[in-house]
Amino acid sequence: MITTPSTGSEAIALAVAGSRALAAAGQSDMVWGHASVRDPDGRGAWMKASGWGLEEIDESRIVLVSPDGDVLHGAGRRHIEYPIHTEVMARRADVGAVVHTHSDAANAFSALDVPLRPLSHAGSLFSYPDVPRFTLTGGLISSSELGQALAAALGAAPACLMPQHGLITVGKNLAAAVMTAVLLDRACRTQLTAMAAGPLTRWGSEDDTVAKRAVVWSDSQVAAGFDYLVRSAGPR
Ligand SMILES: [Zn+2]
Repeated sequence: MITTPSTGSEAIALAVAGSRALAAAGQSDMVWGHASVRDPDGRGAWMKASGWGLEEIDESRIVLVSPDGDVLHGAGRRHIEYPIHTEVMARRADVGAVVHTHSDAANAFSALDVPLRPLSHAGSLFSYPDVPRFTLTGGLISSSELGQALAAALGAAPACLMPQHGLITVGKNLAAAVMTAVLLDRACRTQLTAMAAGPLTRWGSEDDTVAKRAVVWSDSQVAAGFDYLVRSAGPR
C-alpha cells in the first residue's frame, strides 16, 4: 500500500491501517494509544478519534487535528494527547508519522533504568546511541508545552521511552513509525526475558549492529513487516 499520503483520503486510509496494524501486533491498551499521519496540506495530524480501540478503527473514526487542538475533519472527538503528534511533527520536518502506545514491556523495561542492548534484530534499532527517555512526567502529554518537551527528549532519534507511561516512535512514513513501535516493544520484552534469567553478558557490538540494522530494517523490509501486520488485522 502507499506509505505517504498526497490527499486527505489517503491519509485517512493510512491512519486506519496503522491503527489496525498496531492492534494486530498487540499494542492495544483498550481505547488508548494512537498512530498519526502528517496532513499533506500541513493542517495537522490525521489520527484515530478517542473512545475507540485500535482494532475498532475505520474511516469514520479518523479525525484531522490541528496544532491548536481543533478537529478540522471527522465527527469524532480528539485524544487529549494529540500534542504528542503535532509537536513532534512541528519539530521534526523529516517525520511523516508518529505512534504512541502504552506498551507494558516498555514500562517494565523503563523501570529498570538500564541501557537497551541489541540482543536481537529488533534491538539493533535502539542502541548506539541508546534509546532516549522522557522523564519530565509519567502523566498525560496534554499540552503543547509537554508535547514540545517530549519532542526535545526524542531529539533526532526514531523512538523515545516514556517511563511510567509507554513509548513514542516516529518515521518518515507510517510503516516506519508503526514498525518501530512494534520492534521497540519486542526489544524491551526480549531484554526483560534475558535479564530475568541472568545478567547480560553478550550483545551486538557497535560496528556489527550499525551495519546489520541498515540491511535488516531497510525500507523494503519495514514495508513488508507493516503490510504483514495490516493483513493480520483482517478485513474491516
Ligand atoms: Zn498515553
